[in-house]
Amino acid sequence: MDFSLSDEQRQIKEMVSDFVDEEVIPRADDIDHDDEFPRDLIDEMSDLGLMGMPFLEEYDGAGLDYHSYAIALEELSRGSGGLGTVVAAHTSLAGNMLYQYGDDDQKSEYLAAMNRGDDIGAFALSEAGAGSDVPSMETTAERASGHAGDEYVIDGEKLWISNGSVADTIVLFAKTDPDAGHRGISSFVVRPDEDDGFHVEGTEDKLGDKGCPTAELRFDDMRIPADRLLGEEGEGFQQALETLNGGRITIAARSIGLARAALDDSLTYAQAREQFDQPISDFQAIQHKLADMDTKIQSAKLLMHRAADKKMRGEDFIKDAAQAKLYASEISREVTNEGIQIHGGYGYTKDFAVERYYRDAKLNEIYEGTSEVLRNTIAQRLLK
Ligand SMILES: Cc1cc2nc3c(=O)[nH]c(=O)nc-3n(C[C@H](O)[C@H](O)[C@H](O)COP(=O)(O)OP(=O)(O)OC[C@H]3O[C@@H](n4cnc5c(N)ncnc54)[C@H](O)[C@@H]3O)c2cc1C
Repeated sequence: MDFSLSDEQRQIKEMVSDFVDEEVIPRADDIDHDDEFPRDLIDEMSDLGLMGMPFLEEYDGAGLDYHSYAIALEELSRGSGGLGTVVAAHTSLAGNMLYQYGDDDQKSEYLAAMNRGDDIGAFALSEAGAGSDVPSMETTAERASGHAGDEYVIDGEKLWISNGSVADTIVLFAKTDPDAGHRGISSFVVRPDEDDGFHVEGTEDKLGDKGCPTAELRFDDMRIPADRLLGEEGEGFQQALETLNGGRITIAARSIGLARAALDDSLTYAQAREQFDQPISDFQAIQHKLADMDTKIQSAKLLMHRAADKKMRGEDFIKDAAQAKLYASEISREVTNEGIQIHGGYGYTKDFAVERYYRDAKLNEIYEGTSEVLRNTIAQRLLK
């Protein structure tokens, strides 16, 4: 890379890169094939401080800046796209909700356990009828007085929740005022092991992103203590938007990691594969593909780091994060597609990892804001 990294950022990158080469890449095909949550890798990552990277050491986080976190997420995703989603949903979404909007007790109790890797986090916003259109959600949270004191009674269903079936702490969005549109949404901490009425309905059989369970959740008369509310009632929609903005930087990172994996494998393959008595890398058509792949990756990295930079400076980074995620996700699909093309017929088989990168990359264009919704966001900012 070329974006100048500090010594500390370079050390983080090398440490995570070594971990990925030694521990993740040898396991990645099995994770993809078996679609099992890689608990043992998460334990190793916890020991390395990779489960709470951007949060203060006071809450057992690693205290890294957002560039370092994005670089680490890029490296993890280079090894396994599913692992990239596990960490992004746990950290950028669930972790960040607690970090930004939790009070000190909530952070000490829930965030610290997540940062240590003792607990896994999930972020439950989407519903079957409420994807891009978040305010149309139907899950409700009604304040009541129960035998244990003030509580909320939660009813409804959530769909597409990354880590949802393995999570110990779930940040859940529900309507406390169903007549108030987006102003009636609030966020809560849910603890599946403690909260009666919490059910996992099942997990999706997906194209890619294997190893990260994508769960359907149901809440039946689920009673949680009132002190599990994050911030104030009615603030949930704004909290979700702000959290997703930061999350988009790490989906850009996941995209870049997958694109880099495809380029690395393609460079190796193009120099080894011979046709017409010469390596296919001698053909200008292949060289141009490689050149375009690298140029797109370098451009996406600059957008990602620009967004991270603005976030760290406390500047408005909504458009920057949307552009980084939009561009990186689209080039990750294009670059992994060219990776298959360079591998020819072999690229279309499970004998080479490049078909996995392609399946994993497609998701980047869908979650945390589809490409269409991100273009809306960018255009709204331009026209404002
Ligand atoms: C593997 C996976 C993991 C996920 N993880 C999570 C998670 O952890 N937590 C969570 O809460 N959600 C998660 N999601 C949900 C994800 O964020 C939604 O799928 C996404 O927001 C799109 O919603 P939808 O699927 O309902 O599509 P829809 O909103 O129905 O969109 C369908 C199509 O219509 C387009 N469209 C919709 N509205 C507009 C508009 N205004 N202008 C232009 N085009 C529009 C979309 O771009 C898309 O092309 C995950 C999804 C997947 C697939």
